[in-house]
Amino acid sequence: MAGSLSRRIVVLCVILSIVLAGLAGLLLDASAQMRASLTWITHSSQVLETADRALRHLQAAESGQRGFTLTQNPEFAVSFPTELAEARREAAGLVALTSDNPLQNTRAKQVQNLIDERAKSLEETARLTRRGDFEAARAYVAAGHGRFLMLLVTARTNDLLEAERALAANRMDAVKERLDYIRWLVLFGTPITVITITFLASALIRRIRRPVDAMMAVMGQLGAGDRSARITARMESSEFQRLARGYNRMADELESAVADQVVSAQQLHHANHELSLNAEVLRERGEVIELLGGMAHRMQAARTDEELASIIRVFVPRVLPEVPGALFAHNNSRNLLIPIAAWGGIEVAAGGFAPDQCWALRRGQSHFVIDPESDIVCAHVGNETDHYHCEPLLAGGEVIGVLYLKGVVEAENRFRMTVLTENIASALVNHRLQRGLREQTIRDPLTGLFNRRYMEETLALEIARASRGGTPLGLVMCDVDHFKRFNDEFGHEAGDAVLQAVAAEMRSRFRDGDVVCRFGGEEFTIIAPGTSAAALAERVEAVRQAIGELNIHQGGRTLGATTMSFGIAVWEENMERDGSTLIKVADAALYRAKREGRNRVVLDSRAESMAA
Ligand code: GH3
Ligand code: MG
Ligand code: MG
Repeated sequence: MAGSLSRRIVVLCVILSIVLAGLAGLLLDASAQMRASLTWITHSSQVLETADRALRHLQAAESGQRGFTLTQNPEFAVSFPTELAEARREAAGLVALTSDNPLQNTRAKQVQNLIDERAKSLEETARLTRRGDFEAARAYVAAGHGRFLMLLVTARTNDLLEAERALAANRMDAVKERLDYIRWLVLFGTPITVITITFLASALIRRIRRPVDAMMAVMGQLGAGDRSARITARMESSEFQRLARGYNRMADELESAVADQVVSAQQLHHANHELSLNAEVLRERGEVIELLGGMAHRMQAARTDEELASIIRVFVPRVLPEVPGALFAHNNSRNLLIPIAAWGGIEVAAGGFAPDQCWALRRGQSHFVIDPESDIVCAHVGNETDHYHCEPLLAGGEVIGVLYLKGVVEAENRFRMTVLTENIASALVNHRLQRGLREQTIRDPLTGLFNRRYMEETLALEIARASRGGTPLGLVMCDVDHFKRFNDEFGHEAGDAVLQAVAAEMRSRFRDGDVVCRFGGEEFTIIAPGTSAAALAERVEAVRQAIGELNIHQGGRTLGATTMSFGIAVWEENMERDGSTLIKVADAALYRAKREGRNRVVLDSRAESMAA
């Protein structure tokens, strides 16, 4: 913990004050002592002067008294009393001046007494002289008492003066000593004080400058953008330490505030990005929905499986770009998945595959394989594909087909694939329904053969084609012989069974290209395009014989055999193009067959001539 700067300044000031006060005290003391010494010197000189004056006044009085005594001239004695009085006054002053020094005071008193004694002897001489008793006066002087006293006064005064001079010399030495002391005090005290002040002040300045420099440097770094800059240097004093702590706290706050701001900005940017991505996804999905709508419309309008296949081939690669694949439709009667369309270079076996060869169909949900080692591969896929996707096409729990896609279907494509499979499934169901309805309109429900309406439409089309291509076109009209008997003998259902047996036999015996139709009742019509009269007659004869050999059963009963009569006609350019003439001619041939005994084939005369 660093010390307080203000305390240091206070300590420095106190030290300075003590030093200066010490110096001042010493100087004051020295000057007071000097003053005292000088007072004493003045005092000594006063003592000396007073003693000198007392002696001189006494000598002046003595000289005046002597002159008076010798000359008896009173002029000499005029100043005599004044001089004596002055001598006595000065002697008293001398005693007073030396009252502080007992030794000198004793001497002064001795001098005073001697001066007084001498003064008295002089006054006695002067009295004798004034009285005119010159002899007595001279005798008094000659006795030498006065001279002796004067010697004593001079000797005692000199002793006092000597002692006082010695005292004055001592006091003078003391003054010199004080002066030397003051000189030394000034000579040493001043530089020591100056050095001490300089040292302490520079130490103080260093203690201020160092932390200030460190703080300025860190503030400079912060100003230049370095938000991690902190004050770590020694702060020298508690005040700067508090300042540094406060600054560091402020920098921390600033850094975290800036960091928070950066995070908020990033989050905002991220949210913005997500939003624009979502908007893009929504836009793309909108396009896909629009595309699928177009595909659905076309599929609804498709008549044949081939049309359906070509719509799928065009649209699926647009909905799922760069994903090769194939669509298989479930054939109920054969229980096989038959390929409808393939795109993107996929080749599929025309024969299709059984539903249990596809895991998507088995499980009724998507089946995708990314790594053949990690999941079971469908049998219909083969070995050449290492990652693929099978999406079942289901409607009302029934398998409609399967969409096979080669490659990995990513997240967004999954949405497309889901919508696509739903669309294709509903289109296939619809197509199947349409085909069923159409079948119902063109098929005879009892025998499964084409009905008369279909026969008439087809006949007109075949006539147009035969006419265009110059190819032969034959028409067979036939009728079950004595059919009424079955109805009468075994009931109407037995009659129906006979009709079904006869129809099935004819359908299997005639060629694929021949159109076998139920004309009405127990009458049938066969359109035979591209067949000559002779070949047709031969084929009809074979059918007649086969029917004759049928042994028909119904409800556990044997209905026995039946026969049929056949009339054959061949299209000619002069006939009506709607087929009515051709039917009429064939019917006429059938009528002939009936008339000629039934169970036979009769060719119309023109057909007969062609066959011949
Ligand atoms: P023919 O040898 O001269 O042709 O004698 P036919 O008995 O076969 O001919 P006819 O025209 O006298 O009788 C036809 C009968 O066929 C009359 C009708 O009730 C019956 N019939 C017509 N349509 C059906 C049908 O759909 N089912 C059944 N069971 N009988 C039918
Ligand atoms: Mg009949
Ligand atoms: Mg009939």
